[in-house]
Amino acid sequence: MNYVIIGNGVAGITSAFALRKRDGAARISVVSGESDYFFSRTALMYAFMDRMNLRDLEPFERKDYDAKRIERVRGWVTNLDASAHNLTLADGRQIAYDRLLLATGSFPNQAAWPGLEYVSSGVVNFVSLQDLEVCERLVPSTHRAVVAGGGLIGVELVECLAHHGVKVDFLVRESWYWPMALAKEEGELIAAHLRGHGIRLHLDDEIAEVSAGADGRVSKVRTIQGKDLPCQLLGICIGVRPAIDWLPGVKTPPALGRGILVTNDFRASLPDVWAAGDCAELPNAQVEQIWYSAQRQGELAAQSMLGDAVDYRPPLFYNSAKFFDIEYTTVGVAGPESFFYRFPGREISLRIMHRDSAVVGFNMLGSRWNHTWFERWILERRSLKEVMSQLHLSQFDVEFGRIPLDGARAAFQAAS
Ligand SMILES: Cc1cc2nc3c(=O)[nH]c(=O)nc-3n(C[C@H](O)[C@H](O)[C@H](O)COP(=O)(O)OP(=O)(O)OC[C@H]3O[C@@H](n4cnc5c(N)ncnc54)[C@H](O)[C@@H]3O)c2cc1C
Repeated sequence: MNYVIIGNGVAGITSAFALRKRDGAARISVVSGESDYFFSRTALMYAFMDRMNLRDLEPFERKDYDAKRIERVRGWVTNLDASAHNLTLADGRQIAYDRLLLATGSFPNQAAWPGLEYVSSGVVNFVSLQDLEVCERLVPSTHRAVVAGGGLIGVELVECLAHHGVKVDFLVRESWYWPMALAKEEGELIAAHLRGHGIRLHLDDEIAEVSAGADGRVSKVRTIQGKDLPCQLLGICIGVRPAIDWLPGVKTPPALGRGILVTNDFRASLPDVWAAGDCAELPNAQVEQIWYSAQRQGELAAQSMLGDAVDYRPPLFYNSAKFFDIEYTTVGVAGPESFFYRFPGREISLRIMHRDSAVVGFNMLGSRWNHTWFERWILERRSLKEVMSQLHLSQFDVEFGRIPLDGARAAFQAAS
């Protein structure tokens, strides 16, 4: 069997190793236009802040690929002919396959702000290794930067630039930071924290026009509120989309929606073609663009390619991140009602969301929590009262210090 995987991100590589585990004889190749070796995209910021070497972003030893006979092919795939079981790379090389996995991940959204077409340098994204290279090249000559887009990637780029001494204007189109994930109180907590780090956060504002200097490098951004923000670097962090732009033009395109349409066993609409990770769109229009889902999907797609019966159901949503110094843990979904508590005088808060008296989600800032407890309580449909009485069980305390929960419990008593 000749397995070919397009994309060496966490979905593609997990799949390659899972295939090898079960099939010692197969030929397995992984194609990537971005990099020779799998790296941790979520740690890109630590490389930019010089806290990790690029090589340290690679979760596996390079020799593991040879040991497991995983062939690595560097190049962009530009054509897919499913009737001939054949791929073509941008440089004309042909790759035959018996079974193909599309694990092409996400590409950053681009914008069409007036003036951008005249800018030849200084505009960056923060998604790929190539983006990192551009950022690292530009940062020594950058005194001021504008970052547009109030999500997770935007705040990471802001932190990296601030770390290098760049003055940053951070443009957030919404009324508070990241309303897609955070309620107003938490958004305001993060906003105050960013401002405390010297970030000039502009809410309810976005780019109206971009200007370039005589050398073609970005020189200024005008916002819709009429502010003129001088800059030598403009970061565009306005979301990502499944990396499928190249597929409508191939000889046999798979069915596409927002992503590559797949069934619950990750089969795409073409024979012997599967898709997994950020690029895949599951039934119910679900596109999961997070690390652990891509990893799990890669594992299960491999099982499906090996002939196992697979019926993927998206797990409870879980993510953790950091906004500068503030830890963030989120599990589950937003509920119609919630209990919110801000620890007095501290950048710590908890929000427990519930519906019909059962807990459905957690949004925790400023302290570390063991999310497996949250998942258990949600799945067991525990009441808010029970969860409040057991909350201490989910606190990590060894390294970070346990926050006392008495105040939160007293506030809960008073409110109920
Ligand atoms: C800065 C940043 C921070 C993040 N932080 C978090 C976080 O804290 N938590 C979290 O859960 N998620 C986070 N994510 C999202 C997470 O990284 C992704 O969900 C995950 O990496 C997706 O893995 P994947 O294997 O599906 O795709 P990817 O990692 O995107 O890999 C796909 C690969 O395929 C290549 N490719 C695409 N098209 C072609 C082609 N035609 N030919 C050849 N190669 C191709 C791409 O170049 C890429 O190398 C973050 C993402 C970014 C950018």
